[in-house]
Amino acid sequence: MDNMESKQKWTQEEVVALYNKPLMELLYEAATTHRKYHDPNKVQVSTLISIKTGGCPEDCAYCPQAARYHTHVKAESLMSVEQVKQQALAAKARGSSRICMGAAWRNVKDGHEFDRVLDMVRTLNKLDIEVCCTLGMLTENQAQRLSEAGLYAYNHNLDSSADYYPEIISTRSYDDRLQTIENVRKTNITVCSGGIIGMGETIADRAKMLITLASLIPQPESVPINALVPVMGTPMEAMDTASIWEMVRMVATARILLPKTQVRLSAGRNYMSKEGQALCFFAGANSIFSGDKLLTTPNPDSNEDLDLFKTLGLVTQQPFEKKSQPQTVTKEMAIYHDLGERPKWSRPEHTVVRNSAKQQKKE
Ligand code: SF4
Repeated sequence: MDNMESKQKWTQEEVVALYNKPLMELLYEAATTHRKYHDPNKVQVSTLISIKTGGCPEDCAYCPQAARYHTHVKAESLMSVEQVKQQALAAKARGSSRICMGAAWRNVKDGHEFDRVLDMVRTLNKLDIEVCCTLGMLTENQAQRLSEAGLYAYNHNLDSSADYYPEIISTRSYDDRLQTIENVRKTNITVCSGGIIGMGETIADRAKMLITLASLIPQPESVPINALVPVMGTPMEAMDTASIWEMVRMVATARILLPKTQVRLSAGRNYMSKEGQALCFFAGANSIFSGDKLLTTPNPDSNEDLDLFKTLGLVTQQPFEKKSQPQTVTKEMAIYHDLGERPKWSRPEHTVVRNSAKQQKKE
């Protein structure tokens, strides 16, 4: 292991310098790290299922599911277990080895809806597929219950740096995010946490977010790198999309700071050329999301992805190659139970400045 890979502590200056290196050098370093820990020809295909869409009380400035913005998204109630099972089987047939179930909730509340999500986890784990959830903030007991149900991963993105966070979200704090990640870490569930570029943040913000992720002990098993998909009706509708070069640099920098992590090329792939995506794979991305929609935003068609894999000689990663399949504990044998938790997570008073500016402009 060379110095770069064994390095635990990074300074902001070092990471910004790494990000800004001449591209060929950055790519070489990232690809070299990638080959030490991963098969460079293997990419995991995952599918996102929006199990509960829209109507979210949060104010994430990039998100069309926030109830306060007028977007194309229509709120839908929680899907049935059978609906999710059918979608998961179809995704598995298309080559997905991981299903991520997303619910537009601020946080998990104990009760019948969470019980249904636990049933979804039990059902999907039986399909021999990696099961991931992204449900908002989570207490330790709720994380334990998901773990007992057989959850493989929990996604909870940091989105950006702690400094930039209040510019994009004012309804919760960065510390809330870190607390949920800590709660998940107390269980057997793996951690998936990443961010979004192209929201007006600086390169220093990107570096700071990667340093925060890289400093978690252990580092997250999975880090999604998203490019903002500006959606009409959100405060970020007029933002320019991040360039392919920014995505490649971000993926490469993430790969170097998080050598063993699965780096996921997530939202924004629809705007990327095939050549651009190939560069991201070379830089260390080893997962994509398949399906024509990523929750509510467009994504390349699965057939296009299969063609690209064929062109590049890539093969798909099978489920549980990185960590063994969790056991599902039956309801009868469960140790952790419904505590009726209605946790009060923080509500900072800060308002998203960009939203107010946008509002005034409209008036
Ligand atoms: S990103 Fe998640 S928490 Fe934020 S508004 Fe959208 S659905 Fe809600």
